[in-house]
Amino acid sequence: MKIICIGRNYADHARELHDGAELPKEPLFFLKPDSALLRNNDPFYIPSFSNDVHYECELVVKINRLAKCVEPRFASRCYDEVGLGIDFTARDIQREAIAKGLPWERAKAFDHSAALSPEFVSLSELGGDVQRLDFQLEVNGELRQQASTSEMLFKVDEIISYVSQYMTLKIGDLLFTGTPAGVAAVRQGDNLRATLCGRELLNFDIR
Ligand code: MG
Repeated sequence: MKIICIGRNYADHARELHDGAELPKEPLFFLKPDSALLRNNDPFYIPSFSNDVHYECELVVKINRLAKCVEPRFASRCYDEVGLGIDFTARDIQREAIAKGLPWERAKAFDHSAALSPEFVSLSELGGDVQRLDFQLEVNGELRQQASTSEMLFKVDEIISYVSQYMTLKIGDLLFTGTPAGVAAVRQGDNLRATLCGRELLNFDIR
């Protein structure tokens, strides 16, 4: 099982990073290993190697078939359930990596950096259109991130088509589809609560 993550897929978030990069012209993707998973709304422990771990709330698409070189018009056959996740990011390490042109794994792929909702919801229950879903994240009860998947720069089907040119998608693979604006550092004692179309899927604490 692999975790595929898309970077800079919402224009307002790409701009808030202030790293001088232009909006991507093709999907930007990176991987996390299965050891990055944080399940069951277990608490997230801030790792000692970073002083600036950010939350990034994202729609997560679960791949349900083997897929290679899928055309965009057939990509929707590759999933029927969605959930939410947090792409925890050591922003200090990521900034250094970007500045030096180094890989992002230390910033993105560390243990428990991929929090995953215990529940996945069938897309049909949510209206059937993956590009018409609202999600939001509250930290300590305060709204921090709010978006519609209609705002994605690259749509889910385009992403699946693009990524599947390079690597075969397998049943159970997870696609983190990028985060909207509002990212910030987590602090010990924070509570993260995220809803998808009004359903609470994530609710866990930072330690
Ligand atoms: Mg992200």
